[in-house]
Amino acid sequence: MINELFDLNGKVALVTGGSKGIGRAMAHGLAEAGADIVINSRSRAEMDEAMSYILDGTGRQGHCVVADLFQREDTVRLAREALEAMGRVDIIVNNAGTNIVSPVDRIVDQDWDKLIELNLTAPMVLVRECADQMKERKWGRIVNISSIFGMCTKNERGGYSATKSGLIGITRTMAQDLAPWGITANAIAPGPISTPLTDRMVQGELREYFNSMLLGRWGTPEDLIGPVLLLSSDAGSFITGTTLTVDGGWMTH
Ligand code: NAP
Repeated sequence: MINELFDLNGKVALVTGGSKGIGRAMAHGLAEAGADIVINSRSRAEMDEAMSYILDGTGRQGHCVVADLFQREDTVRLAREALEAMGRVDIIVNNAGTNIVSPVDRIVDQDWDKLIELNLTAPMVLVRECADQMKERKWGRIVNISSIFGMCTKNERGGYSATKSGLIGITRTMAQDLAPWGITANAIAPGPISTPLTDRMVQGELREYFNSMLLGRWGTPEDLIGPVLLLSSDAGSFITGTTLTVDGGWMTH
C-alpha cells in the first residue's frame, strides 16, 4: 500500500533543468519511483552525463532536449518534443531557473526579461502545452520550484523574488483551473541548497547570512527527492495549491 502511493510506473516526468543541481537529483528520484524522464538544458554534453546518472539502475527510459528557456519558441518545442518522444507527460517539474542580481534602481531591462521568461513564463507555457493530454487521462501533477525568496527577500534580489513570488501565485491558479481533471499543482520553496547555482552566486556575507538553518547544515539536492515524490505521486492526491518550504527551518527566523 505504501509503495503503491509513491509508484510512478507508467508515468512520464518532464523535469526542466535536469542536467545538474536540484533538477538532476529530483529526476533521479522520479526515475527510481518508476517514471520515464525527459530533461532539458542548454548543454547536450552535460545532459547526456546527467541522464546516465538519472537512469542508472532504474530500467527506465529517458529523453534529452537541448532547449534554451530564455527563448519562448524553445519552451514550446520542449513540450512538443517531450510529448512526441514519450507519448505523454504526466508530471511537470518546473525546475530550471536562475538569478541575476542587481539593485532595484539599476535593473537592466534585458536581465529582467530573461528572469521573467525563464523563471515564470516557461512554467506557464509548459503547463499550457501539456494540460490537454493530462485532462484526457484525468491525472496530472505540476510541481513548480519556487524559493524562500518567493516569500521573503534580500537586497538586490528584486527580479528573482518577483518571479519566484509570481510562480507561487500562478501555482494557486493552476490548482484552481485544473482541479476538475484530477491535476494537482503545488510549489516547493527550497532554502539554501548546495548546487552549481549557489556555489556561483552565494559567497561571503550572503553565505554567512544563510548559515543559520535550524538543522545546522545547508541542504543537498537529494533533500528535494522526498518532497517532489510526495507532490508527484498518489501520495499527494489531496494536496493542491500549496507551497512546501524545504529549508531546514531557515524561514522560522
Ligand atoms: P543550477 O545548479 O544552476 O541548475 C539549473 C538548471 O537549470 C541546469 O540544468 C541549467 O542548465 C538549467 N537552466 C538554467 N538556465 C536555463 C535556460 N535558460 N534554459 C534551459 N535550462 C536552463 O540551479 P539549482 O540550484 O539546482 O536550482 C534549481 C531551481 O531551484 C531553480 O529554479 C532555483 O531558482 C531554485 N532554487 C534553488 C535554491 C538553491 O539554494 N540552490 C534555492 C531556492 C530555489 P544549463 O545552464 O546547462 O542550461
